[in-house]
Amino acid sequence: MSIRVQNLTKVYSRPGSGSQRAVDAVSFEVRPGEIVGFLGPNGAGKSTTMKIATGYLPPTEGTVEVNGFDVRTQSLDVRRSLGYLPEHNPLYLDLYVKEFLQFAGSLHGLRGAGLNRRVQEMIALVGLEVEQGKKIGQLSKGYRQRVGLAQSLIHNPPVLILDEPTTGLDPNQLSEIREVIRQAGREKTVLFSTHIMQEVEALCDRVVIINRGRIVADGDLNHLRAGTDGLITVVAEFEQELTDPLLLGGLPGVQRVEALGQGRYRLTTNRQTELRAAIFRQAADRNLTLVGLKQEENSLEGIFRELTKNNE
Ligand code: ADP
Repeated sequence: MSIRVQNLTKVYSRPGSGSQRAVDAVSFEVRPGEIVGFLGPNGAGKSTTMKIATGYLPPTEGTVEVNGFDVRTQSLDVRRSLGYLPEHNPLYLDLYVKEFLQFAGSLHGLRGAGLNRRVQEMIALVGLEVEQGKKIGQLSKGYRQRVGLAQSLIHNPPVLILDEPTTGLDPNQLSEIREVIRQAGREKTVLFSTHIMQEVEALCDRVVIINRGRIVADGDLNHLRAGTDGLITVVAEFEQELTDPLLLGGLPGVQRVEALGQGRYRLTTNRQTELRAAIFRQAADRNLTLVGLKQEENSLEGIFRELTKNNE
């Protein structure tokens, strides 16, 4: 009931434009019973890693084992052990919800009364009772995601791999889908990708962060916070864009300044200087109107930004 990724590399060759190393010597493990968040900015290599782990894409180098089975040589055992929700959740829009789940179950060898019972269990588990008589094409994005989750769970696999299961959902749908993942995680090993830090805080035991194809962090959330101890970010908001934002960079201890637009700037420091007072004085000296000042210490958002900052 685990996922073991060892030294995984994927090079995409693109006709006419050379090749791209999308995943570069990546190793990590999801231990039995863990819910692990797989984080990284767009293009970091999350989907590629997950597609290889589910047997949908061959690796260039390295191995992935799911539940002890090698994805290259034991792909049938891997598929039996694994539920997968792909990024764009390809569904048959013309099928009715029940019909689709019956089809998905039949692909895993379920038949007759056993199949019908399992479909009903899944409909109840993901909260699709009211919508079960509809065609998938008539469902909202949130309900389609539930159908995708039901499909990934139908054969009761011990391991779940979910690629951005909550992207594009509204806040209510988001919390409902998170609840389904949390429930599933009580008895299954789960790896899911996201770029939302709060989601990780809400659901995960551990996080693996990938940036430009390489792992930049792997650990539990407290460990990650401790490792970047002292990281402080301050967001300062001025009435207008600064004509000379460099003046913020000159404040004591400031390592980095990012312009966020509309007069907002994010400053990063790891010194225990009182940056807010310095910003305030600077604004007063230059006759600038400061309309907001907010400090965050060791926030996971801040840590994520630091670890993935040279993504541009
Ligand atoms: P993520 O899921 O973290 O957004 P992906 O794994 O989708 O990242 O992509 C990693 C990199 O590989 C990106 O630069 C992307 O453009 C590239 N890539 C993904 N799929 C392909 C493909 N089929 N052919 C060529 N390049 C690809």
